[in-house]
Amino acid sequence: MEELDAPLAPLTTLRLGGPARRLVTAHTDDEVIAAVRAADAAGEPLLVLGGGSNLVIGDAGFPGTALRIATTGFALDGTALELAAGEVWADAVARTIEAGLAGVEFLAGIPGSAGATPVQNVGAYGQEVAQTITEVVAYDRRADEVVTLPNAACAFSYRHSRFKADPERYVVLRVRFALEDAAGRSTPVRYAEVAKHFGVATDERVDLREAHAAVLGLRAGKGMVLDPADHDTWSAGSFFTNPVLDPEQYAAFLALATERELTAPAYPAPDGHTKTSAAWLIDRAGFAKGYGSGPATLSGKHTLALTNRGAATTEDLLALAREIRDGVRAAFGVELVNEPVMVGVSL
Ligand SMILES: Cc1cc2nc3c(=O)[nH]c(=O)nc-3n(C[C@H](O)[C@H](O)[C@H](O)COP(=O)(O)OP(=O)(O)OC[C@H]3O[C@@H](n4cnc5c(N)ncnc54)[C@H](O)[C@@H]3O)c2cc1C
Repeated sequence: MEELDAPLAPLTTLRLGGPARRLVTAHTDDEVIAAVRAADAAGEPLLVLGGGSNLVIGDAGFPGTALRIATTGFALDGTALELAAGEVWADAVARTIEAGLAGVEFLAGIPGSAGATPVQNVGAYGQEVAQTITEVVAYDRRADEVVTLPNAACAFSYRHSRFKADPERYVVLRVRFALEDAAGRSTPVRYAEVAKHFGVATDERVDLREAHAAVLGLRAGKGMVLDPADHDTWSAGSFFTNPVLDPEQYAAFLALATERELTAPAYPAPDGHTKTSAAWLIDRAGFAKGYGSGPATLSGKHTLALTNRGAATTEDLLALAREIRDGVRAAFGVELVNEPVMVGVSL
């Protein structure tokens, strides 16, 4: 299916961005590959689109082919799961719970497609897909062939992967997961808020169905489950990643926080780095929930979500994002980095 001068805003959760010169919807892997090959052969820019929940598209739109991945396929063999890239992630998670399998229960309610989950190594509530993905089947545009990348070849790290690092190269077709049959229990709880909710210690397991339901409840309370009637969910989820600071950056940040008599959240990260909380920084820099008086504001439920109140443009949203980034830098010397993928714009 192909449309010319097609609006992209309705295909994103922010409902922002101008039209694509051409929009192609692919329902099979062969259609995906054919569309990518055609765009590449014509030297046409390509935008791969899943659920549009992690995209900020410029008001000028996209001067090329937007390829909407609408493939379907949910195949469970014992504890091995294979999802077609176009499967709706949150629905697939719900089906794993129905099947009594643990491994992705804390990733409930995350919008978007299965094929996008490896791209930024989707994570929440102490779980990330890197923990359960065994293989990613992708079309390699450079080699013009379908490749199967084992987990170790995906270079997964916090909200990052080989696919995000090299966005022009791979189109994800299928994602394979190894789930766990834990007799109706979840994987061990790793996140303090979830442990508190269940009154258990971290590392304990809880009832699988209750874990899924609890995460959906916690997320809904923060506007992190899509609801078309609620503008707090017209977002791209967390707009900034949690900063990961090297020892020198962390020492400088700590000095500024201490000067203001603030105790900043700090979590150990690989290679002697320290991760702190973007939400904490934004809030303490003076941007509370609901901040902003224009058509784009912070969510009333979460400081990390920048939202379209209905009449915003991408430029409105970016102006707010820049104000917050600059405010945090001025207050704490920390540079916030956007999590969503920018198309034709930058912060
Ligand atoms: C309310 C809300 C809550 C959210 N909560 C979370 C959260 O808790 N944790 C989290 O990690 N994220 C969260 N997100 C962000 C987002 O849901 C995820 O990043 C999701 O995986 C994006 O999927 P998508 O299909 O919508 O991708 P899109 O937004 O369509 O695309 C995102 C990027 O992935 C690329 N891409 C998409 N599909 C493919 C493919 N098949 N092959 C290659 N590249 C592809 C696109 O080109 C683009 O660069 C949230 C978003 C919203 C709106």
